[in-house]
Amino acid sequence: MKVKQLRNQAELNGRALRPESLMMSYGFRPEWSENAIKCPIFQTSTFVFSKAEEGKAFFELAYGLRQPEPGEEMGLIYSRLNNPSLEILEDRLTLWDGAEDAAAFASGMAAISTTLLALLRPGDVVLHSEPVYGGTDFFLKNVLPRYGITAEGFSPTLPAPELLACAAALGPKLAMIYVETPANPTNHLVDLDACAAAARRAGSAERPCRVVVDNTFLGPVFQHPLKHGADLVLYSATKFLGGHSDLIAGAALGSKALMKEVRAMRTFMGTMCDPNTGWMLMRSLETLKLRMERAAASARLIADWLRQHPQVTCTYYLGHLEHDAAQYDIYRRQCLSPGSMISFDIRGGEADAFAFLNRLQLIKLAVSLGGTESLAEHPATMTHSDIEPATQRDMGITSSMIRLSIGVEDPHDLMADLDQAFAGVEVPAEAQAQYDAVI
Ligand SMILES: *Cc1c(COP(=O)(O)O)cnc(C)c1O
Repeated sequence: MKVKQLRNQAELNGRALRPESLMMSYGFRPEWSENAIKCPIFQTSTFVFSKAEEGKAFFELAYGLRQPEPGEEMGLIYSRLNNPSLEILEDRLTLWDGAEDAAAFASGMAAISTTLLALLRPGDVVLHSEPVYGGTDFFLKNVLPRYGITAEGFSPTLPAPELLACAAALGPKLAMIYVETPANPTNHLVDLDACAAAARRAGSAERPCRVVVDNTFLGPVFQHPLKHGADLVLYSATKFLGGHSDLIAGAALGSKALMKEVRAMRTFMGTMCDPNTGWMLMRSLETLKLRMERAAASARLIADWLRQHPQVTCTYYLGHLEHDAAQYDIYRRQCLSPGSMISFDIRGGEADAFAFLNRLQLIKLAVSLGGTESLAEHPATMTHSDIEPATQRDMGITSSMIRLSIGVEDPHDLMADLDQAFAGVEVPAEAQAQYDAVI
């Protein structure tokens, strides 16, 4: 019943409506709540059953004691299991990625850790792109081994045939290929089609190998991993989905069958999102595309300006990949926009990077990304500081690298701020000549 209702809401005379047209109303009917145009915050821990038989029926479905009758949906029981402020949010989240089902979490790390624990067993190996988000890296390398699960990293630039060989060599132990693309902070792209092919070859019917993609950096507007063979997509909703640097949340999306396993683990770990945050995320989704497109348009202007700046030695930006045939090929197949994350190397080293960061005024010095305000940080000593210096170098993280998350401010104001910060760290001509000589 509810599914059919939802499908009707997504169409207009047979025309499939775009997600941005549906974010204000999909999944909610005003008559459910005194004709309120907005879905209220269902700030409640538990729900009243109309009669004991109803409570029994809801629990039978929740615990899988019987199959649902045709059209029967599980009713509301308790907010660790389900809550309307989350269910409507989850219905809306499925639209961007074209997923069958979605689950909202208390944080990106809650979505990641719950998903990994739901899908992995002792003896399994996870093959993952490197670098991945620091919290994920720690979970893969320090938490999962306690449960007999091991992790092996691969470079995003590993050619597809070598990735296939690597997956094949692991054989049936390989239970998951876990990918972050673009990689943070270097913006290296991982070929999702190649990962899906490797997983299909390594897995078997009894023990499939899953492809799980952390799509926080470009998704859900600019990259759709499920369309490239991924099984699950994960988000830190703290970033672009929330988009205002005022909440912590996460999400997982995929097929109904896989999401049933993830959702069950969420119920027992209690890692769901709370109703108030669910409501804030619904508000944010209404402007998601506007925000991401505006930030991406500004980022293009700023990245092009940085590339020709005399104090910038290198940009790491998805709009500047033409020189790298393999990466550019992945970009064209997989990404719909370069997005709004730019890293660059400033001429000089850590001291120059710090002097630059300390002079920024409009752009704030903070980690995190994907918010309305622009942020800058120094990956080598901040987000990626727990990675050994030698490994940082292998990953392409230099001491002169600065990472920018471009927000929705006027791009020319942002460039004026960057320009005045560069002016304050101008290297004396003599030192500059010396520096150029050693390079
Ligand atoms: C921030 C981030 C996470 C972790 O999300 P939290 O909401 O902080 O738990 C995971 N992956 C990526 C790519 C991130 O940027």
